[in-house]
Amino acid sequence: MSSELERVSGLIREVEDFPQPGVLFRDLSPLLADAEGFRVVVEEMAAHGTEADVDVVVGIEARGFLLGAAVALRLGLGVVGVRKPGKLPAVAHRVDYALEYGTATLELPEGTLRRGARALVVDDVLATGGTVEAACSLVEHAEAEVSAVSVVMELAALNGRRRLAGRKVRSLLTV
Ligand code: AMP
Repeated sequence: MSSELERVSGLIREVEDFPQPGVLFRDLSPLLADAEGFRVVVEEMAAHGTEADVDVVVGIEARGFLLGAAVALRLGLGVVGVRKPGKLPAVAHRVDYALEYGTATLELPEGTLRRGARALVVDDVLATGGTVEAACSLVEHAEAEVSAVSVVMELAALNGRRRLAGRKVRSLLTV
């Protein structure tokens, strides 16, 4: 691992039993608040997007918004936020899915993804893969393409990558 990524790793805080007992939560807030750490992750994720020749970035609420917007700006692209339910005035598609802790729903805003767009799906942590899979299915409902998935941290024990088999998934850090 590069010394830059080692430093990034050290900026991620581990919080036990959040949001439920038994979950070791990886809190990226200190990393996002660190100018150099933030720059490194945004540039690495933007490089994934360049390799996959994407033309739009899809960020997943909420930390995927922070990362996705910065990656999109870096690439000179637009950003689409897929959101938790009840936030959007006009919903193009909705998908319900299972989480490491509970169930959830994501919605795609109307009038954002054009048919045939090549999307980079961005989030902070890949755990069971349900969230990224749901975001990918929203992209595909809109008849756009998931060209790559980019996350900062992958929790290997939860095997999210298996759920995303066949997709181009890159993580900056695997634990
Ligand atoms: P999953 O759908 O199981 O891959 O969960 C991924 C989503 O839930 C991401 O949006 C993460 O922000 C969040 N998440 C799940 N587990 C964790 C964890 N252990 N630490 C931090 N975030 C997590």
